[in-house]
Amino acid sequence: ESVKPSNFLRQIIESDLEKGSYASRKWNGAPGNAAHQQAGLPDPAKIRTRFPPEPNGYLHVGHAKSICLNFGLAQDYDGVCHLRFDDTNPEKESQEYVDAIMEAVHWLGFDYRSSFGGKEETHLYFASNYFEDMYAAAVYLIEQGLAYVDEQSPEDMRKNRGDFGTPGLNSPFRSRSVAENLARFTEMREGKLADGAAVLRAKIDMAHPNINMRDPAIYRIRRAHHHNTGDAWCIYPMYTFAHPIEDALENITHSICTLEFEDQRPFYDWLMEHLTAGGIVNTPPPHQHEFARLNLTYVVTSKRKLKQLVDDNHVSGWDDPRMPTLAGLRRRGYTPAAIRLFCERIGVTKADSWIDYGTLEGALRDALDPVAPRAMAVLDPLKVTITNWDEVMGAGFLDECKAPVHPHHPDMGQRTMRMGKHVWVEREDFMEVPSKGYFRLFPPHASPTSNPPGQHKDGNKVRLKYGHVVECTGYEKDADGKVTEVFVSLIPDTKSGTPGADSVKVKGVIGWVGAEDGVQAEVRLYDRLFTEAQPDAGGRDFLTVLNPDSLKVVQGWVEPSVAQAGAESHFQFERLGYFATDRVDHGNGKVVLNRVSGLKDSWGK
Ligand code: ATP
Ligand code: MG
Ligand code: MG
Repeated sequence: ESVKPSNFLRQIIESDLEKGSYASRKWNGAPGNAAHQQAGLPDPAKIRTRFPPEPNGYLHVGHAKSICLNFGLAQDYDGVCHLRFDDTNPEKESQEYVDAIMEAVHWLGFDYRSSFGGKEETHLYFASNYFEDMYAAAVYLIEQGLAYVDEQSPEDMRKNRGDFGTPGLNSPFRSRSVAENLARFTEMREGKLADGAAVLRAKIDMAHPNINMRDPAIYRIRRAHHHNTGDAWCIYPMYTFAHPIEDALENITHSICTLEFEDQRPFYDWLMEHLTAGGIVNTPPPHQHEFARLNLTYVVTSKRKLKQLVDDNHVSGWDDPRMPTLAGLRRRGYTPAAIRLFCERIGVTKADSWIDYGTLEGALRDALDPVAPRAMAVLDPLKVTITNWDEVMGAGFLDECKAPVHPHHPDMGQRTMRMGKHVWVEREDFMEVPSKGYFRLFPPHASPTSNPPGQHKDGNKVRLKYGHVVECTGYEKDADGKVTEVFVSLIPDTKSGTPGADSVKVKGVIGWVGAEDGVQAEVRLYDRLFTEAQPDAGGRDFLTVLNPDSLKVVQGWVEPSVAQAGAESHFQFERLGYFATDRVDHGNGKVVLNRVSGLKDSWGK
């Protein structure tokens, strides 16, 4: 097993474990987790991390980085990772997204169940189950003179917050008494104030150099139906207030988030300091650590923007194979192992950067190459007729050609293709007038090396891979000049794997699919969704740089082993790249394939 490279988060965790920073932690059990209701038991987990998506869309490849990181650290350090839905913002959240997120995390290979001492535990949480606890924490802050109900207009509030370098102004409501604040906050909860009429604010310092510390709002009034709590609440906690409390209630040790939240850390610590002092949450409290988010070229990683692509029908849905969602990558043909390998390769740092899309494809190729069955497919079919088939092989005879499923894994067995009088080859495997160095099919009259030119007596000879050597004898064109059929003559006793195989030397070996047992397939050739490497850079409207040619559908032919495979099967088509049968449309007699990637890096060029 490979040793994982260290990173700054691993160093922090190792140092915390060494110092025993969390060794005295008692596990009181998060609300809703029956497994640990007995207060006072030592926490059996050495560390606790969490992956806290908001269920306002499908997960994308950036989330995969966070999932691999949080679940991976828990696995490596004898800890637990919680899957927590950060569902405190009712308007944009839904059960559909909750379900899709659970499926994606599971598919990626991570489990929010773990066992300690033979007991299985489930670590699936919903922030909305803590609304009562959050409310109680807010009341505690009011009682301590650390929060107040502000009824300034939103404009005044914004104006009085000041700017970077300019101190803010205290609200006229800032000096309200504890009793008045408690009464008003109760009225907020009871629905006596209109939406937006007041907010509860932490009372910190309106002149603080960090604007996030200038009395941030911690509760707002919003009459909105919540997917979990229904209409029970008309006030909802702000993210910056809710998130640290969620972490603390769940006994999280290392709360890992992206760099945008660095400026919020002082408030996180402020809140934890006061709530632990009051015994409202466990001590020691969790700590926030920031890492660089994933930015991937030719991709947007924002649920809001991805939702716009779906809502405006620029793609067929959240799982469109061009989408960088985990559902989209899965449908495209990415495997969990490929995405995990990608996340391992990009590592974890504290500096924002862009990762080339080729890195993701590279991980896919490296993950699939050792395991994907090989197969032959023809995507731009040109008909080849073996004119002497009936004489040398026999009319109606089908010649069985065997090939390994995988060149390095004899244990994966053999596949069988049958060749008859007609086969399909790629259109590019024939040239009427061959260019220099072209060793595939070309007709007798067109040899560039003949002397005099055009008088060569033989057409070129190639091997039909795993089959016989054939010699090109001629071709036919339609009225538009398009080649419609190529004629070849089979050279007897040259079959691959037989003693005569080397009797005729050829420079070209080409793939083919037999017209008799090949199966027609719809093949979806995907390209990047955007024409610009940084589609939303500098505030650009990413919809203006959509690639109009991101999907091309062709009708091709595949060998029988592909047609027989179930949905979500992966193949390397020789010379063409990696393909997967579509998880939705393949099956029931229909063969539908998606191109996952080419065989070589074509990105970032
Ligand atoms: P989005 O803007 O796409 O909605 P988000 O950060 O608001 O992203 P959340 O559902 O809150 O989405 O994210 C859950 C976790 O995933 C967070 O801890 C967040 O830091 C992490 N995450 C989101 N996007 C990325 C990314 N591009 N790279 C790494 N981690 C990410
Ligand atoms: Mg978020
Ligand atoms: Mg978001």
